[in-house]
Amino acid sequence: MPDSFDFVIVGAGPAGCALAGRLARSRPDWRIALLEAGPAKAGLVSEVPLGIALATPRASAINYAYETVPQPGLNGRTGFQPRGRGVGGSSLINAMVYIRGHRGDYESWERDAGCNGWGWEDVLRCFRRAENNERGEDALHGAGGPLNVTDLRTPNSAAAAFIEAASQAGLPLNDDFNGPEQEGIGWYQVTQKSGSRFSAARAYLEPPPANLAILAETQALRVHFENGRALGVVVSRGGAEATIEARAEIIVSAGAFGSPQLLMVSGIGPAAHLASHGIEVKHDSPEVGSNLQDHLDFCDNLRARDPALFGTDLSQLAALWRGWRQYRREGRGILTSNVAEAGGFLRTQPGLDRPDVQLHFVHAIVDDHGRKRHRFRGFSMHSCVLRPKSRGTVRLRSRDMRDPPLIDPGFLSEPEDLETLVRGVGLARRILRAPAMRRFGARPVHGTGEEEGEALKSLIRQRADTIYHPVGTCRMGGDPCSVLDPQLRVRGVERLRVVDAAIMPSLVGGNTQAPSSMIGERAAEILLAHNRVGVG
Ligand SMILES: Cc1cc2nc3c(=O)[nH]c(=O)nc-3n(C[C@H](O)[C@H](O)[C@H](O)COP(=O)(O)OP(=O)(O)OC[C@H]3O[C@@H](n4cnc5c(N)ncnc54)[C@H](O)[C@@H]3O)c2cc1C
Repeated sequence: MPDSFDFVIVGAGPAGCALAGRLARSRPDWRIALLEAGPAKAGLVSEVPLGIALATPRASAINYAYETVPQPGLNGRTGFQPRGRGVGGSSLINAMVYIRGHRGDYESWERDAGCNGWGWEDVLRCFRRAENNERGEDALHGAGGPLNVTDLRTPNSAAAAFIEAASQAGLPLNDDFNGPEQEGIGWYQVTQKSGSRFSAARAYLEPPPANLAILAETQALRVHFENGRALGVVVSRGGAEATIEARAEIIVSAGAFGSPQLLMVSGIGPAAHLASHGIEVKHDSPEVGSNLQDHLDFCDNLRARDPALFGTDLSQLAALWRGWRQYRREGRGILTSNVAEAGGFLRTQPGLDRPDVQLHFVHAIVDDHGRKRHRFRGFSMHSCVLRPKSRGTVRLRSRDMRDPPLIDPGFLSEPEDLETLVRGVGLARRILRAPAMRRFGARPVHGTGEEEGEALKSLIRQRADTIYHPVGTCRMGGDPCSVLDPQLRVRGVERLRVVDAAIMPSLVGGNTQAPSSMIGERAAEILLAHNRVGVG
């Protein structure tokens, strides 16, 4: 392994893969290293879309499976935070739903957070460049980009019933949530190709560019500084420590939990907190690890008997075997399901300028993230708050990167989020009461399915948790308190940037993989413009 590169990128999630792939292909004269703590290949559980049912609930070589600190807003329960590990990051284990968020989110980044160069027109250019939408190109969609986006090949009939029920309930339908209007209910498009998961690694790193060294099973332990300049990354690889030097810059793309953790163990963060762990302060940056935002989700589980619904009974095992053969033969069938096939975006109050809740319909019972298994079949109705007011933190458990960080999402610390979620669950249940869903004769697994007001609030506190979109812990902004400037440079030191979901000043209204890829694409533009004359 050479120990010196022009650019060293830490973390191969959707943002790190996009950045590394773009930079390497745009500048064959640059030598780039992409460091990743997890494995180079994730295997069948990741490749087969339905494998998410096995990959998400438990810790493994490709899932950190973090726990949060106890959440007062959730009756003191600890939350679960699965996170992908390996080349591809969380795109190895996520639900593949392709959503960009609302254009107003990015207008607000630019207008309210001072993030010049991150308004709608700028990010749209990057979304389009990243995308290969199998529906083809138009003013809002790209074709020919690295990330394959497609309609599901074998849509589930229970999900179709959910969409029909939404229409019966008087809600608008939408067949493209990334089109001119986000609002409505419909099918999600997914990041798949020919029925298989299309991870960020497949999108950006296959075939790997010759000038890019992808160093898997290589964990960054800290950034090495001299005189306020980031010069190298100390890594653990094969049980030994080594230093990888960067001639130009180091880019941290370790995700919403990993990036603030790496900055803090390297001496950039709230001074008192670093000192309490005996870390020498290189730059007192109080907001590192603050501003954590996540989509809090409540899920109604309903028990029902229908061949379209999934469960773990014997007839299902036979169907899975047939499905496996069909998947191998033609890339179709039940194994190509991303489980969250349908859903949508709704406004819970008149007068809102954009949807404030998102629904995901799952044709199986997802109880406690799938960690609590049931023998019977059924479905799950997820509702989440798109722009939570609550804020949390990521802090250090120890000064060692190998220890998980302390994650405190601060769920429901702002009462308004609970009010929004109550209204969102009310809308979701309205759909479940419409004839197309009533025909399932479903019975709730928890509660009565009819709770309102205080009773519903109590059920939410007992059962709600993340739907996996933590962001914001190294926020960019135009103000001097922000961790990063809008060029993604870490304030207070030189030659160091952060490029991933952690940079978002505020959470976007939708799933966060496409925005993370967009961030990688936008960062590549910034770095290419900044280094036009070459490095080295
Ligand atoms: C279960 C689940 C379901 C989801 N479903 C969807 C969905 O359907 N649609 C959607 O759009 N989004 C979904 N998401 C969210 C989406 O996957 C993430 O927002 C996105 O992957 C974030 O990208 P990222 O680049 O910020 O970092 P991550 O994906 O978090 O990747 C960071 C990478 O950095 C590596 N790393 C961390 N620390 C170090 C270190 N010290 N040294 C070396 N490497 C390091 C990690 O191992 C990891 O590979 C889901 C997420 C999960 C977990």
